[in-house]
Amino acid sequence: EKGVLGASAKDLMLSYDWFQTDSLITIVIYTKKKDLSAELVIVDCQDKRLRGEIIIDDHSYLVEVDLYHAVQEDLAVNITEKIGKVEIILKKNDNIHWKMLGQPMENHNTFIKRTDRGLFYRKCKLVSKTEVTHDTKLFCLMLPKSTHLHVPTGQHVYLKQIIAGTEVVKPYTPVLPFLPLDFKEPSCRDGAHIYLMIKIYSCGPFTQALEHLQVGDYVSVSNPEGNFKKSQVQTSEDLFLLAAGTGFTPMVKLLDFALTEVSCLRTVKLIFFNKTEDDILWRNQLEQLALKDKRFEVKFILSQPTKDWMGKEGKISSSLLSEFVKRSSKYSKVLICICGPTPFTEQGVQYLKDLGYSQEEIHAFTA
Ligand code: FAD
Ligand code: NAD
Repeated sequence: EKGVLGASAKDLMLSYDWFQTDSLITIVIYTKKKDLSAELVIVDCQDKRLRGEIIIDDHSYLVEVDLYHAVQEDLAVNITEKIGKVEIILKKNDNIHWKMLGQPMENHNTFIKRTDRGLFYRKCKLVSKTEVTHDTKLFCLMLPKSTHLHVPTGQHVYLKQIIAGTEVVKPYTPVLPFLPLDFKEPSCRDGAHIYLMIKIYSCGPFTQALEHLQVGDYVSVSNPEGNFKKSQVQTSEDLFLLAAGTGFTPMVKLLDFALTEVSCLRTVKLIFFNKTEDDILWRNQLEQLALKDKRFEVKFILSQPTKDWMGKEGKISSSLLSEFVKRSSKYSKVLICICGPTPFTEQGVQYLKDLGYSQEEIHAFTA
């Protein structure tokens, strides 16, 4: 039962157990981790193969078995956050007594570094595809009933498609169906849907293949990845979001989280760099949000504006940043998040450091 790095589940006192009733199979995992949240538990069940992964800091615990008998498609996951207990509840197909849970798979009951686990994919159905701008669309994907997966704020997933006979994988950052305006539509947080805002490039093979997907088609979606920590925002008073083009995507959940759950925040400022006005994603929603929430402000900066653009013009620069990124008071705690094309992000981070912001005050979203 040793994991790749030698830490066994037993050493860390991680264990699982299972029991049954006439109609149910319950697998219980005791992680001993306090404040274990739903985002840290990923469960899939496909063709009798059950896979339950629990993320514990930078490690991953896995239960993976080929079930003894068939189960129904829908499963339930219950988490008792305070004591870190996870229950996976499966419905038996037939009300018969199981002699065992199933055959352990190769990595069953291992506790290894998360980065050594490898990505796991499940097929998701394309439910809708709606226009955001002339070249960007919002894709809504539906997770299988037998999957429990929530993508944390600031993390991305990988999509996998077969293109000209070859498997191709690219990262995308889930967004919300819309920004938090007047009400919270419960259906957008049902956990069953993943929304992706994707720019279609005329000479981009992967996005061209996505563009050609029809509603009802399937695409493989991986487990989430990424090193952003919500706690970075939880303690900040001023939040600056520097986004360029689709680098806006990680800012969507971040904005929602900051404005709805972080009580110490005084200001949230999005500085959004685009080529032209037509390229601005969710401009109307952003302007509405700024009207609705006094803590939030948005600035658009265009690199290729038309003559009638009355706003700011240019690319990321030291002078633009010193103009727009300012602490609300001398000692306020700031977090600056930056995302966009690699040169944009790299230059931005350098300018911010030159302006005196520390590494801890900057988070760059990268691959
Ligand atoms: P590619 O063949 O990769 O290129 C697309 C276009 O860009 C082409 O026109 C090409 O000529 C040009 N191009 C490619 N590389 C360069 C370069 N270095 N310099 C200048 N031009 C170049 N995209 C989204 O739309 N939404 C997201 O939410 C999203 N999230 C991401 C999250 C992460 C962590 C990362 C790393 C990337 C993310 N991306 C996102 C980008 C995405 O992964 C793909 O790179 C993108 O969709 C392009 O794929 P493609 O195969 O269609 O095009
Ligand atoms: P784009 O070509 O429309 O450019 C948008 C703006 O970015 C421009 O107006 C300009 O201000 C700035 N910019 C572009 N190239 C620059 C350069 N060389 N130097 C300085 N500034 C520059 O952008 P797009 O096509 O929407 O591309 C968005 C990029 O963001 C992609 O490269 C994508 O991979 C990346 N992205 C990364 C993540 C992540 O790492 N987590 C998430 C989403 C998107």
